[in-house]
Amino acid sequence: MLFATLAAGEGLDVLNPATENRIATVRSYSPEEIAGLIERADAARPVWAARTAKDRAVVLRRWHDLIMARQDDLAALVTAESGKPLAEARGEVAYGAAFIEWFAEEGKRAYGETIPTFAPGKRVLTIRQAVGTCAAITPWNFPIAMITRKVAPALAAGCAMVVKPAEATPLSALALEVLAHEAGIPADLFRIAPTDDPAGVGTLFCTHPLVRKLSFTGSTRVGQILMEQAAANVTRLSLELGGNAPFIVFDDADLDAAVDGLMASKFRNAGQTCVCANRILVQDGVHDAFVAKVAERVAGLVVGDGAASGVTIGPLINRAAVGKVRELVGAARKAGASVISGGKQSDAGAGFFEPTILTGVRPDMAVASAEIFGPVVPVIRFVDEADAIRIANDTPFGLAAYFYARDMGRIWRVMEALEYGMVGVNDGIISTEVAPFGGIKHSGLGREGSRHGLDEYLELKYCLMGGIDR
Ligand code: ADP
Repeated sequence: MLFATLAAGEGLDVLNPATENRIATVRSYSPEEIAGLIERADAARPVWAARTAKDRAVVLRRWHDLIMARQDDLAALVTAESGKPLAEARGEVAYGAAFIEWFAEEGKRAYGETIPTFAPGKRVLTIRQAVGTCAAITPWNFPIAMITRKVAPALAAGCAMVVKPAEATPLSALALEVLAHEAGIPADLFRIAPTDDPAGVGTLFCTHPLVRKLSFTGSTRVGQILMEQAAANVTRLSLELGGNAPFIVFDDADLDAAVDGLMASKFRNAGQTCVCANRILVQDGVHDAFVAKVAERVAGLVVGDGAASGVTIGPLINRAAVGKVRELVGAARKAGASVISGGKQSDAGAGFFEPTILTGVRPDMAVASAEIFGPVVPVIRFVDEADAIRIANDTPFGLAAYFYARDMGRIWRVMEALEYGMVGVNDGIISTEVAPFGGIKHSGLGREGSRHGLDEYLELKYCLMGGIDR
């Protein structure tokens, strides 16, 4: 173990979702203790901010390299506490580290500008400066990547950051912290603070005068609470909230490519990502052929402990998650949907749900309007393009959308019409550190990754210089 763990019940107990066994107990910080961490982070910040961007980049790059050198150890930790299959966990470690590499470089390009003047004797310019001390609250479904994509731009910009990881997955977060400090990131500047009082810490982050910015990834419900609380201090917010991604298959689609895309988008992390395909809209003419192909592929999925070789679908995060998925499937069935495969808890154990295909789903069913966060494919049949766009946009969410088509005119029309922050055209996996990730409507504010991700941690200062003539 890279860090100290406690006896059962003395802090946050961390369970393996596959076995439901306790794997560690970590220290739980109170809001008062975390207030102390914020103050220390803020005190460490000026020295860090005064270093050159290149100097910060060298340290961040070292952090990236240490993470990649421990990729297998970190992946084992991610699988143990989140349940995802080892191959996915390894992928997440590399994906998470990629944000550090990216922002280490991007920090060097926090350019200001000079603006042609509006009056003789005056000059107009802008500079970009670090926001200050930041806080982050992260979820359990990507215990590494959701942290690095906030911390890396913050540190690259010259900010300090205190992170509250999800209660279920503090171990990967603590391991990241150990490696960061080993890389030379000052200990007080970046801290991981697990807690059993998420609401208390959320309030602290929103109201502490030294916290200039809060970045949150999680549910829309909690995002709304934080937004309300942040009003008191006008704390800057980035919110990456829930989604209800449509995955649309038009009748001119390459069906095999669409099936590949759906399998990748839907079943990653057993359906527990905010960009997972949530509703599968299939045009009349290809509906039956598409469903048959998906059923064939779903039959090949292997449910089990993510640490076992060959497993492609791990457990859900806990029994409550299984219960929620069971309820959604049950309600859809009652309302007239047909179960083509799966449909119930898996024989693998109480924490597992079978990969499930539902047909005859209508947009008003809960399984098509709520975020499922499980391995369920609800198929809605549609008639024409206008119909598909109407159904796809008829949701308060606006994170990711996907569609498969070949006609160039249709591709442009649909891409422009979808009210989403991200659109995958003929592709089911869109996440990368080089592109801006984020949503609109109830799916949130702000973008992570790409050059835009750095802006979230920079203030733009305008400076008017007069007296040039004299
Ligand atoms: P999920 O359904 O993914 O668990 P949550 O929004 O409940 O979504 O959790 C995401 C993160 O938000 C976790 O770190 C959790 O501890 C934290 N969280 C939960 N409730 C609150 C709250 N009231 N204030 C601040 N953070 C919270």
